[in-house]
Amino acid sequence: MKSGFVSIVGRPNVGKSTLLNKLLNKKIAITSDKVGTTRNMIYGVYNEDDTQIVFVDTPGINKATSKLGEVLNNKAYSSFDNDLVLFLVDIASGFGPNDNRILNRLKEDNKDVILVLTKVDKIKKDKLYDEIIKLKDLYNFLDIVPISSIKGINTTELIEVIKKYLKDDVKYFDDDVITNVSEKFLVGEIIREKVLNLTREEVPHAVTCVVENMEFKKDKCYINACIVVDRDNLKGIIIGKNGQMLKKVGTMAREEIEVLLGKKVYLELFVKVIDNWRQKPNLFEELGISEEDD
Ligand code: GDP
Repeated sequence: MKSGFVSIVGRPNVGKSTLLNKLLNKKIAITSDKVGTTRNMIYGVYNEDDTQIVFVDTPGINKATSKLGEVLNNKAYSSFDNDLVLFLVDIASGFGPNDNRILNRLKEDNKDVILVLTKVDKIKKDKLYDEIIKLKDLYNFLDIVPISSIKGINTTELIEVIKKYLKDDVKYFDDDVITNVSEKFLVGEIIREKVLNLTREEVPHAVTCVVENMEFKKDKCYINACIVVDRDNLKGIIIGKNGQMLKKVGTMAREEIEVLLGKKVYLELFVKVIDNWRQKPNLFEELGISEEDD
């Protein structure tokens, strides 16, 4: 048995969540082209006969300009403590100052790092080769793996490379555990993702989604969920003219949740404005619902 914890780090938008979803063949992290979408540490467990890799997806690291940004960065840096770090660099947009900042942190701690160059489908082979030559001397990387999660280029090879460096021989999770987050959380994240992708005006931190109720009856699942925002105008944007936007969010989210749960889904969405919801210690209480332990 070989196992280990592997963190996936990199600045926002380099493709961390997309890679995690691809490696696990299941959607567990949400992806969006907006900065700072991943706010929680999400574990994804990859199992093979003799191997268990626990991937830790982290919030993107940026130059912190706010308290929230600082908290996210510290969360991400603390995940460097894992056995192995996959350092993702979006090679299509190039190695920039934000990448360098992360690399310096990794160097300071003398981490075991695999450099993963993402989105290679977007650049020419020659350019990729030149970039690798440039980047390989920046640090004593264990390996350099160019990938495309979207085209499925080198993603299985990446697993093979990781396996070479796993040191533990313990099985941390049972075979049926794929993530540390609940179905309810995933459903909420899917809805949040649709809101973010369909409404382009606002930053993701202004929106959250709380699944208030999920009830399974035979092969059906009934879900009530609340999209929480902190301003009236955001509520208007999300509902849209004649409720069209909310309807679209609902349809797209429902289709995806049906795949996740393997059941027919009836989804009821509503939008609520709660001032400063990020500062509320218990959003469930604020919404007048009881939080179950799941
Ligand atoms: P994160 O913030 O690092 O988790 O980045 P995401 O996984 O959310 O990806 C950011 C954006 O890059 C999304 O629009 C993805 O669809 C896109 N993306 C991710 N991987 C690839 C890839 O391999 N190729 C291309 N062309 N786009 C990608």
